[in-house]
Amino acid sequence: MSPVSTTSVRYVFVTGGVTSSLGKGIISASLAKLLQARGYRVTIQKLDPYINVDPGTLNPYEHGECFVTNDGAETDLDLGHYERFLNIPTSQSNNVTTGRIYQTVINREREGAYLGKTVQVIPHITDEIKRRIKLLGETGEYDIVITEIGGTVGDIESLPYIESVRQMIWEMGSSNAAVIHLTLLPYLSTTGELKTKPTQHSVKMLLEYGIQPDVLVCRTEKPVSNDLRRKIALFCNVNINAVIESIDASTIYEVPLLMLKEQLDKVIINKLKLPLKQEPDMLAWKDFLGKLKNPVYEVRIALIGKYIELKDAYKSIAESFIHAGVSNECKVKLEWIHSEKLDAGNVKSTLGSMHAILVAPGFGERGIEGKIAAIRFARENKIPFLGICLGMQCAVVEFARNVLGFADAHSTEVSPESNYPVIDMMEDQKDIQHKGGTMRLGEFPCSIVKGTKAYHVYGKSKVMERHRHRYEFNSKYLSDFEKGGMIASGINPDNGLVEMVELKNHPWFIGVQFHPEYKSTVLHPHPLFVRFVKAALDKSNGTLQEPKSDATAVIVNS
Ligand code: GLN
Repeated sequence: MSPVSTTSVRYVFVTGGVTSSLGKGIISASLAKLLQARGYRVTIQKLDPYINVDPGTLNPYEHGECFVTNDGAETDLDLGHYERFLNIPTSQSNNVTTGRIYQTVINREREGAYLGKTVQVIPHITDEIKRRIKLLGETGEYDIVITEIGGTVGDIESLPYIESVRQMIWEMGSSNAAVIHLTLLPYLSTTGELKTKPTQHSVKMLLEYGIQPDVLVCRTEKPVSNDLRRKIALFCNVNINAVIESIDASTIYEVPLLMLKEQLDKVIINKLKLPLKQEPDMLAWKDFLGKLKNPVYEVRIALIGKYIELKDAYKSIAESFIHAGVSNECKVKLEWIHSEKLDAGNVKSTLGSMHAILVAPGFGERGIEGKIAAIRFARENKIPFLGICLGMQCAVVEFARNVLGFADAHSTEVSPESNYPVIDMMEDQKDIQHKGGTMRLGEFPCSIVKGTKAYHVYGKSKVMERHRHRYEFNSKYLSDFEKGGMIASGINPDNGLVEMVELKNHPWFIGVQFHPEYKSTVLHPHPLFVRFVKAALDKSNGTLQEPKSDATAVIVNS
């Protein structure tokens, strides 16, 4: 007999079978969206079975973008999806890795907290995993916590997580928890059939570990017939209505509606013995999707970065463009351009037909000169420009070299010997040796200067934005820049750091030290992206306005 739990928080565990990359994150986010739309308070947590303490130190080619939360956690990119779907922020507790679990247990062992006991995977590691899973529930902020287990069932490294889930269900009682297993039904074109065997094997493996899934979400490229659903239900020991078809969709934003049609939310709510409350209110979502699928206009925007071979490296930026495109009833065609392939000689032929240019965040020297060449082209040809983090820093370097005449101006990240270190390491970063979690991370306030383009974008003078960097604008040069026509339009009110720059004599040229892409959601597209796409649209139809004389110039520190 399992102990009866007094907790009212319900837990939904999402595991993956057959293969990776089936989209557990999107299924979790879609279910959460539907439960939220019924009136439940929901959050999603991702457990990652790798030994890195967080993905902050991972190369983007390995793991895609590193997403940053308000409280400064460097996390898996799935947390970006959770925020974009749910429109509520996540935090440090929403992403846990094996590295973090072991670090906590080993630190505790060194403190002597285990009183001489042998420290083992079971119970010590599993206890720590369970503690981390329960943390979100204990905040009292949520009715339902959805916990996604990274990796695929059967992986050696996810075993302790699966065992922890088994223990939690036993402890809480099975009506307080539900398990969704995401699997693949491969289609064999030779016989024209969807095959169920990999799903059967994967469920058997889960059963070996003591877990009976309640719901099977089956990824498929063809519709799943009732006969096939019955067969899967029979062999895998689930209700027939708990065999959910997840057919390939043209956009991830369609998945919540597909899951609504399959009644995934109802099946889960019934399993958790909760009231259905209202029918999900998905009106705003449907409106968004309708506009996404039926754009009136189209713009071409260059996204310049050095990791473009892996589109996931710029996930939040690409999604922000989708949100902002919908706001403008406009399809944003992103042209992914490798910064290493750009130079002064080919910049015109590569970028000449773009309606706007974005230079992406990044680290290190590779591709820097290509970014600078692209920025020069945008500045001189009055093409709307948005530079994010390293993109903003490159805009500062470009302006210093080509407008102010500071010949070897650079960021000290790339050229420590520069005579004009216009971007320099932040003071409080200079003594830091450790790499993990030590950048300027998370949400900081930014004061927007009235009368600037930035103010026009936000329509208010105080905003909060998320950061992830070690270097910053070197304020020693601020008056040179402002005299030359690049002004600081966003300043951190607490320490005076320059967070936004813009050009006076350019219709739309803004660089931001922070990452607006981390804050754009379906229901709240980020104003910087919305206005940037609008500027691209104006550029495309010839209505982009030159700034009126000096009207936008506000010198900050004169
Ligand atoms: N490498 C730069 C810094 O550390 C920019 C970082 C970024 O683009 N996120 O300041």
